[in-house]
Amino acid sequence: AAKDRGRNRHEFFDEQMGAKSRDALLIEEALQQAIANNEFQLVYQPIVDARSRRLVKVEALLRWRTPTLGFVGPDRFIPIAEDNGQIISIGTWVVQEAARQARAWHSRPEGPIRIAVNVSAAQLVDPDFIDVVDRAIADAGAAPTELEIEMTERVLINEADTVVRVIDTLHEKGLSTSLDDFGTGYSSLSYLTRFHLRTLKIDRAFVNGIDQDERSLALVRAIIAMGHSLGMSIVAEGVETENQAGILAELGCEYLQGYLFSPPVPAEKLIPNVSAA
Ligand code: C2E
Ligand code: MG
Ligand code: MG
Ligand code: MG
Repeated sequence: AAKDRGRNRHEFFDEQMGAKSRDALLIEEALQQAIANNEFQLVYQPIVDARSRRLVKVEALLRWRTPTLGFVGPDRFIPIAEDNGQIISIGTWVVQEAARQARAWHSRPEGPIRIAVNVSAAQLVDPDFIDVVDRAIADAGAAPTELEIEMTERVLINEADTVVRVIDTLHEKGLSTSLDDFGTGYSSLSYLTRFHLRTLKIDRAFVNGIDQDERSLALVRAIIAMGHSLGMSIVAEGVETENQAGILAELGCEYLQGYLFSPPVPAEKLIPNVSAA
């Protein structure tokens, strides 16, 4: 049905709009074979303790390479998959793959690693979501504590009752949760009182500026204080300089993630303990 809608748009809109929807249609069509053709891969970006710089957990990020389109980044294909519903099967694959990887890391000499998985709004409110997570963990033989579910503020503005229930269920089962890209969404701060997420991730848009201007610094300081007063731990995203890392550690931000420490890497390239210094 989504495909038919796309086709109609393509027919009736002007040249420029037509080009855009053609691009989306190509992606949509290629996505249909992506799982069966093994075109997806998860890469893992370290999240380190701000003081010791030791690896605490990783974030799983989806990569897609197709024979026809080449490498397509998640910022391009995830919104399309969210629009047409493909995100449900893609998201299921991501959860299963992350659970398998968590199980594989069980036996690392350095100990298990928790994997944070991004989920879209449609996935989280899907009636099967908890079952998908349960089954992925059971099939892989992973521990629920090895998975964390990352969601953005966008998830929190619709179907609030469902989202509250899903978050509580995840916590009861032993999974952790985090609020991604904090500060970039549309929602008001009031949702923080309803949704008891464990970790708050400060978007890199704010982190970027902390060593450049006073106002970004003031904002990040306030976000950290607010998160802490709600009992959340804080991850700073997009940390690229030693200067930023130092400031964030001084502000009491517990965890850091960014190119300073490591880009996202395939599982086999993950260094047991990352240290930028
Ligand atoms: P995100 O969840 O906020 O992930 C962080 C993004 O920032 C990643 O981009 C990562 O590669 C990038 N990044 C990490 N450190 C730095 C840094 O120091 N500087 C800069 N400039 N960027 C950094 P990526 O992998 O392209 O993913 C983009 C977005 O796509 C993600 O943002 C997430 O919203 C979405 N996404 C990725 N994988 C999945 C997935 O499996 N499921 C869903 N639903 N969404 C996903
Ligand atoms: Mg994320
Ligand atoms: Mg983020
Ligand atoms: Mg993002």
